[in-house]
Amino acid sequence: MLSTPPVGRFAPSPTGRMHLGNVFTALISWLSVKSRGGRWILRIEDLDTQRSRMEYAKQIEEDLLWLGLEWDEGGLDDKGANGPYSQSRRSEIYSQYLAKLSGHTYPCFCKRGDIMATQAPHQSDGRIIYSGKCRPDSFPAPEATSPHSTRIVVPNRYIHFTDRMYGEQRVNLAQECGDFVVRRADGAFGYQLAVVIDDALMGVTEVVRGSDLLLSAAQQIYIYELLGFAAPEFAHVPLLFSPDSDRRLSKRDASLSMEALRKNYSAEELIGMLANIAGLRSTPTPVSANELLEDFDFGLIHRAEHLRAPYV
Ligand code: GLU
Repeated sequence: MLSTPPVGRFAPSPTGRMHLGNVFTALISWLSVKSRGGRWILRIEDLDTQRSRMEYAKQIEEDLLWLGLEWDEGGLDDKGANGPYSQSRRSEIYSQYLAKLSGHTYPCFCKRGDIMATQAPHQSDGRIIYSGKCRPDSFPAPEATSPHSTRIVVPNRYIHFTDRMYGEQRVNLAQECGDFVVRRADGAFGYQLAVVIDDALMGVTEVVRGSDLLLSAAQQIYIYELLGFAAPEFAHVPLLFSPDSDRRLSKRDASLSMEALRKNYSAEELIGMLANIAGLRSTPTPVSANELLEDFDFGLIHRAEHLRAPYV
């Protein structure tokens, strides 16, 4: 039987220039689907309109093309049939699906945790476990008129899934995060809700991203269940840590931002460096993304919690 080609995606938030860690995730995600004849979608995650900038989105596109990581669908010019591909232009779609979840959501008047809801929760952000203070006794919850965020009730049971990299996972959302925000008080939609709706409607079959979003996979699988969508396969990859400290790369690591890297290295040199860090090549010899397709094997990628970025 012929299996259908996989559909992957890269979903950057345009809040700054990409760094080596972002490129690492993009590369593995691209290789994973393109090596099997699949399609790769570029989605712009600009739910937080305060922090997102069009210039950054354009720069991300330009950097990806420079690296040889071309997308088949999506991007700022909405290539493909499942657009728009920028989350800031998908509010109507999110509203429709949020309405379907009304038996599981409630208005919340607490301020904590609201603002962060539009961003993917990276571990270094710290974790807030919501107490359930505003959770009503029965559902559907009574309507509220004063400003409020909307939270989704999480079950007190294990959600099981198998991550392609980290294996069997079981997560009890009640213990790990509590009821979480799906819409902020200012109307912006939450990352967890938007990402599920987008991945489902865009036909994404595999999600490759940084390992600090492993817990988010459980939150997302729960929303998939409630909306009756089939969940994609998850493959979280190790985070790149700064060469001289125990934290993931961030915008602070200016020497590892694409701006600095492009001044000092060719695309092939950078891809060669990343292929070596990942475990795909035994030396950091320059290589193009296309050349890596020939013998790409996800199983070769080091199964570490994090990998160390090189001094550059
Ligand atoms: N927009 C998220 C980030 O840049 C990625 C989330 C995802 O891949 O699901 O961290």
